[in-house]
Amino acid sequence: DNELRNNVRSVKRVLFSKVKPTPLKDNIKLAAVSRDSLENCLDIDFRDAINSETFMFFASGNTLLQNTTLSHRYGGHQFGTWAGQLGDGRAHLLGEYQNKHGERWELQLKGSGRTPYSRSGDGRAVLRSSIREFLCSEAMHHLGVPTSRAVSLVVSDDPVIRDPFYNGNVIQEKAAIVLRLAQSWFRFGSLEVLAENNEVDLLAELLDFVIEHHFSFAIEPGVPNRYLQLYSLVLNQTVRMVTKWMSLGFAHGVCNTDNFSLLSITIDYGPFGFVDSYDPEFVPNLSDDDGVYSLEKQPSVAFMNLKRLLDAMAPVMTQSQLNDAKNVLNSFDTLYQNSLLDEFRNKLGLKGQNDDDYVLIASLLHLMNQTKADFTMTFRQLSHLRLQNMKDAIVPKHFWALQDLRMHKYFRPWLSAYYERLRKNVPEDTDHNRTARMLAVNPRYVLRNWMAESAIRKAEKGDFSDIWRLLMTLQRPYNEQVSAEVSGYASRPPDWTKALRVSCSS
Ligand code: AMP
Ligand code: MG
Ligand code: MG
Repeated sequence: DNELRNNVRSVKRVLFSKVKPTPLKDNIKLAAVSRDSLENCLDIDFRDAINSETFMFFASGNTLLQNTTLSHRYGGHQFGTWAGQLGDGRAHLLGEYQNKHGERWELQLKGSGRTPYSRSGDGRAVLRSSIREFLCSEAMHHLGVPTSRAVSLVVSDDPVIRDPFYNGNVIQEKAAIVLRLAQSWFRFGSLEVLAENNEVDLLAELLDFVIEHHFSFAIEPGVPNRYLQLYSLVLNQTVRMVTKWMSLGFAHGVCNTDNFSLLSITIDYGPFGFVDSYDPEFVPNLSDDDGVYSLEKQPSVAFMNLKRLLDAMAPVMTQSQLNDAKNVLNSFDTLYQNSLLDEFRNKLGLKGQNDDDYVLIASLLHLMNQTKADFTMTFRQLSHLRLQNMKDAIVPKHFWALQDLRMHKYFRPWLSAYYERLRKNVPEDTDHNRTARMLAVNPRYVLRNWMAESAIRKAEKGDFSDIWRLLMTLQRPYNEQVSAEVSGYASRPPDWTKALRVSCSS
């Protein structure tokens, strides 16, 4: 009867459909939990969660604490074209929890069965993609990037059929469910579907709800220009989010408007990737042949998405508000450039602002691209260099990313330009202080594709230990950790991993 209840259809004039999860059945296991989100977001004791089956059956959709669970109706532009109604095709909103700090979290299961928005999908998520989502949500949070959170990963032996590389080789995989948290799951596409279908009353109602519940710190509900204010805030926060992505070499992979959150948190971890050898054209998604969502295109994609957002909000704005909003949109480039410059100034330990900073940063990235230097470790290892080393152009042997960079004939001139620039920080600044500052913004560990892939291969055989090890490491990405070093998480990625690509199939 679930098939009937979850009938796929085109839904009108609603934001949600009432629909229940389809619980997992066969050999359900709690593969991992994030202690941090359990305890700090949900006030659930870690031991309680892992030592009883109560939590597991909640996280697998078997036990419902509330009778009404919901799937959200949204639309979106996918790869530049309007895709119509999409919606939560495999996600169920379980409810909202207000924790002891007064924060409200919306709990959502992903992979929990068919809904009216499943279209041709089966409503499930496979283990490999769920591991990636679980780990990366938590990793991003601890890197300081606005993001949805993950609480748990539940796996079962329920079969799911997938063609992981879209080459006709169909395989049977295991169904998994991630319990995710966000303060709100509304997306740009939540508004777009209403505007596209001329549901203007509901559009205004949703906007007012979002303002009241998530933007009351800055916008007084009911003021005439509240939508314009909201637009400006979303634009600013989206710029921040994308800047963070760029500063970490993170490519989201599927920057459709339905995957851009109204709270500007990173959502929907699919075929994402952190660039290893620096390449601005890095495309993590195997299915993105044209590189529409390459690393370097993310700012312009964000701009396009913000333009779509404005289109969606236009029906509730006056002409003069709309003109003002267009001016806000046109400030995007300046905002982004300044925000990016600040981020990279911090990564390089530069204090204050200098007209040549842009050139210094851009030329480093250029050298990194030409020498294929590792993005993460270049910045990490630069953090350890002393001024005297730079002056003498001495790079310690074990700094493997810098050794790659050093092969470039312009590395020495770059290093001396960097040295000269850093000398402007002195006398207030010291090697010691600069290193400390830089180590706090340049992670040593990010979720590299090969790390996720190794954990996935083990997990598919029933061994979840690498997921735990990775979670421990990625919870403290700025701190050197012995076990992570032993696992090679800060080493040159192994050769077998160069050919790894991730598909949308999940
Ligand atoms: P994504 O590209 O991950 O943002 O997903 C785009 C749309 O496809 C969303 O509406 C998802 O809910 C839906 N979707 C993805 N995978 C499935 C699936 N296995 N079953 C049902 N819907 C899905
Ligand atoms: Mg999505
Ligand atoms: Mg997805």
